[in-house]
Amino acid sequence: MVLLHICCAPCATACVERLREDGYKVTGYFYNPNIQPLEEYEKRYREVIKLSELMVFELHAGNYDSLRWFEEIKGLEDEPEGGRRCEVCYRLRLEETAALAKKLGIGQFTTTLSVSPHKCFDKIRLIGEKLAQSYKLVFLPYDFKKKDGFKRSVELSRKYNLYRQNYCGCVFSKD
Ligand code: SF4
Repeated sequence: MVLLHICCAPCATACVERLREDGYKVTGYFYNPNIQPLEEYEKRYREVIKLSELMVFELHAGNYDSLRWFEEIKGLEDEPEGGRRCEVCYRLRLEETAALAKKLGIGQFTTTLSVSPHKCFDKIRLIGEKLAQSYKLVFLPYDFKKKDGFKRSVELSRKYNLYRQNYCGCVFSKD
């Protein structure tokens, strides 16, 4: 069993498929207080619910802690995409995932974030492994973009007719 942090439905498609191919039972967790505006957050969440029904997996959702997110990234507003603001953003989302995994008694966690060609897997892995140590869990170091993972996510998103956004999520990544 693995708790999969899900950033959005299109990214989750290929990750759920890959984890299942490798024999894991997947539970999803939508926790993304970075997403702005609220309407966009709700739209992405609805698509993840739709995907959980289509691909049949259990789904949990966290709170929309947008004030907390802005507090955490204070001072990093002008960082470029992929910079220090993103590391804080990854950590916040992965920490909530580790905490939920612990609460649910799921020993392993990972994230769909690595399916994006814009995201540095080494940074995600480092954060995931540190959290795994603190929470006494295992972080599954999947770089989902490998083996044409991103391409597969585009194919599956088309198949399931999913909404695909054109920006990462936060207000600073828009435009
Ligand atoms: S660009 Fe994406 S990963 Fe970086 S801070 Fe914004 S939402 Fe988070």
